[in-house]
Amino acid sequence: MSGTAKSDHYDIVIAGGGMIGTSLALALAPLGLRVAIVEAVARKECQQPSFDDRSTALSRSTQRMFEAMGIWPDIVAAATPIRDIHVSDKGRFGFSHINAEQQGVEALGYVVINRVLGSVLQSMLAGLDGIDFLCPARIVGVELGPDAAVAMVEPDNHGKTKKLSCSLLVAADGANSAVRAMLGISVQTSEYGQHAVIGNLLPEKGLNNCAYERFTSQGPLAILPVADDRAGFVWTVSEHDAQRVLALNDADFLAEIQSEFGYRLGKFSRVGKRAAYPLVLSKAVRLTATRSVLVGNSAHGLHPVSAQGFNLGMRDVAALCDCAADALSATGHVDLGNEQLLQRFATWRYSDQNKLVNFTDNLVRIFGSSRPPTRILRDIGMIGFDLIPGVRSLFAKHTMGLAGRLPRLSRGVPLR
Ligand SMILES: Cc1cc2nc3c(=O)[nH]c(=O)nc-3n(C[C@H](O)[C@H](O)[C@H](O)COP(=O)(O)OP(=O)(O)OC[C@H]3O[C@@H](n4cnc5c(N)ncnc54)[C@H](O)[C@@H]3O)c2cc1C
Repeated sequence: MSGTAKSDHYDIVIAGGGMIGTSLALALAPLGLRVAIVEAVARKECQQPSFDDRSTALSRSTQRMFEAMGIWPDIVAAATPIRDIHVSDKGRFGFSHINAEQQGVEALGYVVINRVLGSVLQSMLAGLDGIDFLCPARIVGVELGPDAAVAMVEPDNHGKTKKLSCSLLVAADGANSAVRAMLGISVQTSEYGQHAVIGNLLPEKGLNNCAYERFTSQGPLAILPVADDRAGFVWTVSEHDAQRVLALNDADFLAEIQSEFGYRLGKFSRVGKRAAYPLVLSKAVRLTATRSVLVGNSAHGLHPVSAQGFNLGMRDVAALCDCAADALSATGHVDLGNEQLLQRFATWRYSDQNKLVNFTDNLVRIFGSSRPPTRILRDIGMIGFDLIPGVRSLFAKHTMGLAGRLPRLSRGVPLR
């Protein structure tokens, strides 16, 4: 376990130092709080579940957050801008298209490899005072009291369990959040019966900063621009087909993904390492318990079709930071686990989370169905999307994370 606690009480303890937990700790830094992060898996281990080989499309609101936090220059140096999004439906004519210039922005989003984002975030964290990083260690129990929450932390070597007392406990420990269960918050889940197979390949033609989303009979296939002319792919296949697809030799794999995508980017070659993720929609029934809140995937797990899970989690981070900053500026020092703050956070986040969960789920069901009424709806949707004024802008606004009432970090305004 690295990092040493100077006293036993923290303002905030964050369970999970993945994409969201680490971003939250960095975002809170200007408030000068005592923060501890407890992360189960060391980054240097290849099985680190958050900072792995997936590519993540960062929305405009996430970009603005990283700008306001002062770390965007390091992230953008390793990211690829998306200037166009091309949406098509296999076996149907036509396509839809969103362009950055038409939306009045330099880029619709940026693609970064999680592993690379992890290095940037963790090296920033290492340079900060006031944050203790306990890793590898996991939270194995919680006690919630009127004056403090206590997290029981077990180091990876099964050494002595340590108790961390805090004003606010934040569960950022992912979709299968153990801390959420310890808080007594249940979760509604719905399995899609699909897996996302991810990796990268080399297309014959350059992507020219265009991201492609193609709806196929098995599910959506996204092709994203990444560094060195390579393309990251997120290919949704049915559950029973995932192991077969992973086991294909490179030539057979390339032939199958090519037949789903077509030849718009010429011939595919040189596929890299592949991995598969089961796809489940999950939504916590509550976002708070005594002195504790849920953020990121512990609060909501989305299908990657809309590339919004991390971006939505970043808006949880931004809203929590806003609530903490406002409470601190009103009173100087405040108990961050107070009920008023928790309620403000939960009320703020419900609407954005519900909208995006429903939007993403509808997208999967409408485009994943071959039933005639759904196909007609889908065709009308595709036509309306391109021709009805405002529809495309509204969709782009949601995709960029700019819809609704945004916290200051999501607007690019620093906390202090
Ligand atoms: C194939 C795929 C593609 C995706 N593409 C995009 C995209 O383009 N854009 C986008 O916005 N989103 C995307 N997402 C979603 C995004 O990856 C997730 O929303 C994001 O990783 C969630 O981060 P998190 O930190 O909340 O959870 P996680 O990434 O799951 O991290 C949780 C962390 O908590 C740690 N942990 C677990 N239990 C404990 C414990 N008891 N104690 C301490 N630590 C613990 C884990 O080790 C881990 O590091 C995609 C998802 C998939 C599957």
